[in-house]
Amino acid sequence: MADEERPGAERFLPEARDLQSLRAAAADCRGCELYRDATQVVFSTGHARTALVLVGEQPGDREDVEGAPFVGPAGRILDQALRDAGIDRDEVYLTNAVKHFRFRRQGKRRIHEKPAVGNIVACHPWLEAELDAVQPEVVVCLGATAGRSVLGRTTRIQQERGRLQKSPEGRAVLVTTHPSALLRLKDDPGWDAAYDAFVSDLEAAAKAAKAARSANGAETGADR
Ligand code: SF4
Repeated sequence: MADEERPGAERFLPEARDLQSLRAAAADCRGCELYRDATQVVFSTGHARTALVLVGEQPGDREDVEGAPFVGPAGRILDQALRDAGIDRDEVYLTNAVKHFRFRRQGKRRIHEKPAVGNIVACHPWLEAELDAVQPEVVVCLGATAGRSVLGRTTRIQQERGRLQKSPEGRAVLVTTHPSALLRLKDDPGWDAAYDAFVSDLEAAAKAAKAARSANGAETGADR
């Protein structure tokens, strides 16, 4: 893929960097080739000033059609895990490292394809602008693509998961698995342990966000 195919999102960012302006401007992004075949941009759900931001990989088939992140099968697992971790989904900001669906066609089906590093890099300005607008206490990376975008390097989920670390911009970051990885384990004997580890990582992130927000003299979304 030539670089001119992925000039990056920077030039499409609006002057105003509030979430509403970012969402509106992202609809016209041509920062990489993925806008061509996807139905629409899938930006985020949630509002500014939440203590916890969750970053996924990219919209899936269902998200691409509905225009909202985490509304498909992986989203249902995430919803359940958030409930089990005592986190109100309405009080977290949910987004993806890459805002358009990457897929290949197989007959009438659209098969998910992992975003290339070039897509992640091209789309990173949107994520960075979102994080600047929201100013969360903790960013949770759901999977290696989110880790690559937020930490700016290859992320090994099993070695790094569950502990707080700093992004190059100084943000508190916790890496965990993507709920779609759990989905693939659904009928596997390892499901219970994998799901419990995921919930435990979310609990750790919420606890750290709550402590940081309390230290800053404000109430966290996690305890509202
Ligand atoms: S994936 Fe990101 S960089 Fe590429 S066109 Fe979509 S919004 Fe722009």
